[in-house]
Amino acid sequence: MLAEFGKLYVVATPIGNLADMTFRAVEVLKQVDLIAAEDTRHVRMLLQHYGISNKLVSLHQHNEDTASLGLLEKLRTGLSIALVSDAGTPLLSDPGMPLVKMAKAAGLDVIPIPGACALIAALSAAGLPVSQFTFAGFLPRTSSARKTFFAEHLASPHTWVFYESCHRILACLQDMAEIVPLERGIVIARELTKLHETIVKTHLGDALRQVADNDNMRKGEFVVIVEGAPPDTEERLLSTEQERVLKVLLQACSVKTAASLAAEITGAKKKQLYQAALAMQSGQ
Ligand code: SAM
Repeated sequence: MLAEFGKLYVVATPIGNLADMTFRAVEVLKQVDLIAAEDTRHVRMLLQHYGISNKLVSLHQHNEDTASLGLLEKLRTGLSIALVSDAGTPLLSDPGMPLVKMAKAAGLDVIPIPGACALIAALSAAGLPVSQFTFAGFLPRTSSARKTFFAEHLASPHTWVFYESCHRILACLQDMAEIVPLERGIVIARELTKLHETIVKTHLGDALRQVADNDNMRKGEFVVIVEGAPPDTEERLLSTEQERVLKVLLQACSVKTAASLAAEITGAKKKQLYQAALAMQSGQ
């Protein structure tokens, strides 16, 4: 492209197992003029392991807008830069987007050096459909925002993938269980590539039990994969509370009235409630 300008390499690093570094990643980290790293101390350990001594600058979520401007200038002067995050592929729930955007906008070469990525590793071993999936990054931190997110999205027929922290994994599954049927397929992929790697493929109800009962299942790093809803349930996904209100109303009202009143009381969609009420009446 612009030969006199430097190239930006976006380099994936391991997500736990140091051996998951590609030969090409090692070569690039050796050869570039500068490595922009999320946490320079953390990356230094990786570099030491591979005998790489190179200049490091810090680029993290709190400084990346301004730091990226400085790095762009260096690229323009012809220096080549490797961008790495603490683990896995930069930009995937990690810093780097402003720098990559700026470099692209300036017409510079941006070269991916592919490697580890937690969501792809988890999907590759999950045994759930991967032909269509949505990666949602980290879920909202509050319970009410998570429930809203689940209600809005988990009725769709394709696979969903999330990152979740050990502090919220149990609460996340508890919230999901209020919105999504307990039989829904789910994979909890924990500590991938590390000593305590655990990949549990089960259904939501059992996952909730395992995570609640076993302290070890609340330790480490997590990828959560949720199977898509069967297509015919798409319009029938209601929370436990919405179902309860609907059931009570159905004892006294017609399907139509119960659905209208339940929509007013719970905020759920009338069409969804109507279909659920019909199913309840027919004993499904
Ligand atoms: N950029 C990284 C990637 O390519 O996967 C992800 C960075 S994000 C800040 C960190 C989150 O990814 C963790 O909180 C966890 O949800 C997930 N993660 C990273 N490493 C993991 C591992 N070894 N096992 C399971 N999940 C992991």
